[in-house]
Amino acid sequence: MNDCIFCKIINRDVPCHTLYEDDRVIAILDHRPVRPGHALILPRQHIEYFCDLPDDLAAHIVLTGNRLARKMMETLDPKPLCAGHVVHGFIPHVHYHVIPQYDWNDIASGQYARAENGKVIFEAEMIPVANDEEQHRLAQKLCLF
Ligand SMILES: [Zn+2]
Repeated sequence: MNDCIFCKIINRDVPCHTLYEDDRVIAILDHRPVRPGHALILPRQHIEYFCDLPDDLAAHIVLTGNRLARKMMETLDPKPLCAGHVVHGFIPHVHYHVIPQYDWNDIASGQYARAENGKVIFEAEMIPVANDEEQHRLAQKLCLF
């Protein structure tokens, strides 16, 4: 049994707002966006770490991310910065973030962090789930089809 949330999204067992898909990747809106339009690119194959990707698939993910970043620049105009790319994550299925950055802290967002007993704790659940109508509107703007 595969409990991976991203595999469930890829298999359409969990709904999402799709921005792009082909036979190797799918690009979706993050349901807990650092900023509206925050997107994730997922390989269809369950691979835990970016460094374990075959080189051609890693390149395809980065190039898809760059296409999406250009679309963000055109439609969302994240000033004074740009659409940033990040590889990190709490879920062991490669997910490549493309985030419209309006502030220096939008990539390493403090929204993920809280202090507890002198430690900084990072949790995606700290960021609210996005409004579904707003996500739908953003998906239409950022769609690469
Ligand atoms: Zn998976």
